[in-house]
Amino acid sequence: MDQLPAASASAATIAANLARVRERIAEAVARANRPAGSVTLVAVSKTQPAEAVRAALAAGQTVFGENRVQEAAAKFPPLRAAHPALRLHLIGALQTNKAREAVRLADVIESLDRPRLAAALAEAMRREGRRPTLLVEVNTGDEPQKAGVPRAEAEAFLRACRDEYGLAIAGLMCIPPAGEDPRPHFEYLAGLAAKHGLGVLSMGMSADFEVAIACGATHVRIGTAVFGARPRP
Ligand SMILES: *Cc1c(COP(=O)(O)O)cnc(C)c1O
Repeated sequence: MDQLPAASASAATIAANLARVRERIAEAVARANRPAGSVTLVAVSKTQPAEAVRAALAAGQTVFGENRVQEAAAKFPPLRAAHPALRLHLIGALQTNKAREAVRLADVIESLDRPRLAAALAEAMRREGRRPTLLVEVNTGDEPQKAGVPRAEAEAFLRACRDEYGLAIAGLMCIPPAGEDPRPHFEYLAGLAAKHGLGVLSMGMSADFEVAIACGATHVRIGTAVFGARPRP
């Protein structure tokens, strides 16, 4: 038999998954003695069909994350037209030649990680007259193959964003190395954000969002636990 791509989850399954994830977020927030509602769920819909996003919207989810500009551009403009409250976060590695389209599409860009991209985004924001919220992605594990500014360069890069490129940075994002205890990475990111007075901390995915919330995450990016296994792109 030919291999079939994994079918996307039904609307009922997505609604049930969302309810359960929201409950787990609320419990983790309470355990951390943090105010109710202090963590935003970013539902990561990459590789999922528009129907899956519509099912989540119908279940009250308004904040979504995508990691490819092209996929977001194909999927989101009609959804946004139908749901003005929708907010789109771009969370994937961003090429400088996609900066302009990213600025047009996104409400939040979470993956600013190098000077050339900072320059491209500053220019795109000027041309488009649109200013998405920006987060700097830190490669907390200093993994060579991974996006994100290396730890040793993070502070200088934050200063350069502000002083050289005139960009307001709202916060930080990280993806800890797979198969490692994520807690030290989350703690490091939280410490760096506090030192620089940055209020937004995007950290935690399906497997580790409760730990991230204990460490101060304000945004958790959750795909599989909401939409089920990703269909092959
Ligand atoms: C895919 C992705 C996620 C979601 O991962 P899950 O394990 O499916 O929850 C979160 N953040 C980024 C940057 C991603 O690319």
